[in-house]
Amino acid sequence: MTELEQRRKAVSAALASRKIDALLVTSLANVRYLTGFAGSNAAVLATSSDTHFFTDPRYGTDASRQVTCKVHVAKKPLTDAVAGILKRNRLKRIGFEPAWLNIEQHEKLKKRLPPGASLHATDGIVEELRMVKSVTEIEQIRRSVQANSDAYYKTLGRVRLGMRERDVAAELDYQMRVHGAEKSAFDTIVAAGARSALPHAHPTDRRLEANELLLIDMGAFVDGYASDMTRVSFLGFPPKRIRTLYRAVAEAQQAAIGAVRAGVTASRVDGVAREVLKRHELERAFVHSTGHGLGLEIHEGPRIGRKEKTKLRAGMVITIEPGAYIEGLGGVRIEDTVLVTERGCEVLTPTSKEFVNL
Ligand code: ZN
Ligand code: ZN
Repeated sequence: MTELEQRRKAVSAALASRKIDALLVTSLANVRYLTGFAGSNAAVLATSSDTHFFTDPRYGTDASRQVTCKVHVAKKPLTDAVAGILKRNRLKRIGFEPAWLNIEQHEKLKKRLPPGASLHATDGIVEELRMVKSVTEIEQIRRSVQANSDAYYKTLGRVRLGMRERDVAAELDYQMRVHGAEKSAFDTIVAAGARSALPHAHPTDRRLEANELLLIDMGAFVDGYASDMTRVSFLGFPPKRIRTLYRAVAEAQQAAIGAVRAGVTASRVDGVAREVLKRHELERAFVHSTGHGLGLEIHEGPRIGRKEKTKLRAGMVITIEPGAYIEGLGGVRIEDTVLVTERGCEVLTPTSKEFVNL
């Protein structure tokens, strides 16, 4: 059985306990996970015995070559084609993904349901499976992390005073592609000086000046799999306040990485980072959660936050990214992509965390 077949089998097996006859998958990341299909319009209907794949004629040739479950190329809206299969197979209780079916699609589908059939919201059946990565997926993430890191180093070597934040971001995106990424995994963040205190700053026309922080948060998609990394450097020699800030965040990040292992709750890992920053009187400067899972999407389960009760499992790939942001001074965030193992974790990001002076 191929890996894709195993995943589809796992979904089929999950239906009975949810008391549904079929699951309509409309999240494109979930569709890709179950079929390998990477196009922009598709759906999957998983029943206890079969998996049906739906797409439109633009992808007909691609899909029939690539997708190994039942392929339906529909000239009409995909929901109409799905309704046809529901009728033909006398499927009654249909699960759907509420986060990935809009109200219009839901209404349309509901109107076309065969008599006696009904729609039921489900709770991330495929997302649950996606949290633990297979050996193949981990390899893909390793490639993504490597391309991302290579692009970072290449760009850092080209950073000069007077460049605009957006020039640096454009170079990063270009280098990611040169190193094998199909695209960046999110809008690349480049924030200089006091702007680094905005955790999600978008690159602007602001020019890099001497004696300021430069925060870069970047990720690549390689073969569909994401990487995510944040590094902070300094243009010149950093003053003591900034060096202290950097050291505190680095210590929090290292402590959180040290806490990662199978069986530990996500909230515990978050707590460890928070405790360190508290000791440095920076707990209020840490305004987001410690990390998130990644894979076919840049943000997926598990979340590594204060209230997250999920227990980490070997094979999960998460980020560890504490930060501290001080208005007027700047911000420091250090982020690695790490693989959870039985006894700890492996930091996949190969990039140095030394505080670089450019
Ligand atoms: Zn990031
Ligand atoms: Zn992240």
